[in-house]
Amino acid sequence: MTPSPSYESDDDILSQQNCRRQPPKQEPEDFSAQKECPIRKQEGLSWAFDKKPSSSSQFDVMVIQGAQLHRHITATLGSGNLREAVRLPVGEDPNEWLAVNTMDFFNQVNLLYGTITEFCTPVSCPTMTAGRRYEYRWADGIKIKKPIEVSAPKYVEYLMEWIECLLDDESIFPQKLGAPFPPCFREVVKTIFKRMFRVYAHIYHSHFQKIVHLKEEAHLNTCFKHFILFSREFQLIEKAELAPLHEFIESILLQH
Ligand SMILES: [Zn+2]
Repeated sequence: MTPSPSYESDDDILSQQNCRRQPPKQEPEDFSAQKECPIRKQEGLSWAFDKKPSSSSQFDVMVIQGAQLHRHITATLGSGNLREAVRLPVGEDPNEWLAVNTMDFFNQVNLLYGTITEFCTPVSCPTMTAGRRYEYRWADGIKIKKPIEVSAPKYVEYLMEWIECLLDDESIFPQKLGAPFPPCFREVVKTIFKRMFRVYAHIYHSHFQKIVHLKEEAHLNTCFKHFILFSREFQLIEKAELAPLHEFIESILLQH
């Protein structure tokens, strides 16, 4: 029996049965072949559009479409209206909107974490926590099936690699114009957001003083507000998952 591909999990299993439309022919059923998938921690927003197109003009159109959506995000963010920035643009495909924003939020949290990596070490953060009450363990459902306790930097490394491999998987994040998104697309995005939130929660609980020292708190807060408002707009993160930053999130939602 061919095993179903799985992307998970630590505390919940994301069922992948009937998820992928059709596994690419030359790819294995699972992600074991993608273990070399690199983490690009410092490449910034350009990453989302730096994939080299094939000669397909359809792909070019897709890249342009993605770039237009990205410009829309930047323009609305520049207006300072975060509520407006998260809203689905009129006439836009909701999945496409989710995909472009997922890439942007991934790049953002990667860059933010990148600024404190020298302070987030196995010694300072031997487990991936969000305050005293919340600890996260890692499993990807393939190489690591049973959740393991890892240091915070190791957890984030696993997480970023896992997200990047998903973003690179065209059966989940299609790049060709008109290629359908898989039925499980929204569930995949939700799991990505749930886990990205944990990086924010760890930064706020364990490294906020360092962020203040680096004078980055305004930027962190803006990125997090944008992330929370987007998650809320599309109901991407369960309330229980947000508990480590509950009060802060309530204040954000009251302000916006
Ligand atoms: Zn840390």
